[in-house]
Amino acid sequence: MQPDPFTASVADRVTDLNERYLNHAAQAVLKRALTDDTVGRIAMVSSFGAESVVLLHMLSVINPATPILFIDTQMLFEETLTYQQEVAAHLGLTDVRTIRATREAVAAHDPDGLLHKSSTDACCDLRKTVPLENALSNFDAWITGRKRFQGKTRATLDFFENEGDTRIKINPLAHWTPDDVQDYIINNRLPRHPLVAKGYPSIGCAPCTSRVAPGEDPRSGRWRDQDKEECGIHFINGKVVRGPILKEEPMNIIVTDQGFGQDDWTLAYTTPDELADNSDAPALAIDLASDADPAVLAGKLDGIDMIRIDFPSFADGRGFTLARRLRLMGFNGRLRAKGHVIADQYAMARRSGFEEVEITPELAERQPWDQWKARATWQDHDYQNRLRGAV
Ligand code: SF4
Repeated sequence: MQPDPFTASVADRVTDLNERYLNHAAQAVLKRALTDDTVGRIAMVSSFGAESVVLLHMLSVINPATPILFIDTQMLFEETLTYQQEVAAHLGLTDVRTIRATREAVAAHDPDGLLHKSSTDACCDLRKTVPLENALSNFDAWITGRKRFQGKTRATLDFFENEGDTRIKINPLAHWTPDDVQDYIINNRLPRHPLVAKGYPSIGCAPCTSRVAPGEDPRSGRWRDQDKEECGIHFINGKVVRGPILKEEPMNIIVTDQGFGQDDWTLAYTTPDELADNSDAPALAIDLASDADPAVLAGKLDGIDMIRIDFPSFADGRGFTLARRLRLMGFNGRLRAKGHVIADQYAMARRSGFEEVEITPELAERQPWDQWKARATWQDHDYQNRLRGAV
């Protein structure tokens, strides 16, 4: 029996989809993925690289209005940007969405554009992984052009993958060979990326892509001489590959409208699951992930003194929405944003209902109180208060 699209887990739906479409051709897998109820809201992610035109063409035949996410790392070759425009026009693709790291994020972490020299993981995290994770938060599934022949990390690819129990990833070309790709491009007279003819069979960012000699592995020109095969937007063995920016760090500076201070909360934090066991505690603080469902705390908010919401990256805005929802549910206790929140986001945090932010000593050093203070007059920017004439 087919799993219920609304209640079945991602893992169950992926197993079912792989069984049902096991012997299908790439076009059939793509077509079914775009129409199957158990897949949900879907987008294609395309680099508009050397082989991207194959899937883009298939998509244009089935539904040219499907959302396509194009990650502009601001480090791409000029030729890629031009090619992206040309291919979209040629195929009549009507919903190409260019996504980038925010200006604030780049200014905070890579102001000189040289991060790729010291840490390609951190640079990919900043310029690819985080913007894509944000963009994909609106989708249940995404389509990629990955193929088994592209290296050992992709050697066992299935058509459908479980991405961290949150989304389905679809690889219609998983079983294609290099000849299949070439034949499709030739038979359909599709435009080639201009750098292919110049010796680039795999094309990423300009600083991290080099020419490939005849006979070399086509992907050997990507991060050449580095122990790196993936940019971080794909899972390996079920875990997302993350760079140093997102790693857990000690957090002990508390930012409020009054300035920097130390954490005055001395009791342990707990989780919603453990809440029942702590119901006799004199005071309660709860840690919530940014994607937590606030419904787990329905009916329990009166007994909670503080809720601390984790911000896994400065470009992840889900914590702001979660804070607003908790306030709308009637939570009147302390609300703290913990993690990767930067000074530019302080006004947004306060407007969302947070009273304080918990940051690392390193961030506090990079962004001293003066930078936060400028946003501590957050009510000046509160349009709702302005409309009410309160400010
Ligand atoms: S491929 Fe290179 S330049 Fe592009 S995001 Fe990754 S490290 Fe940065």
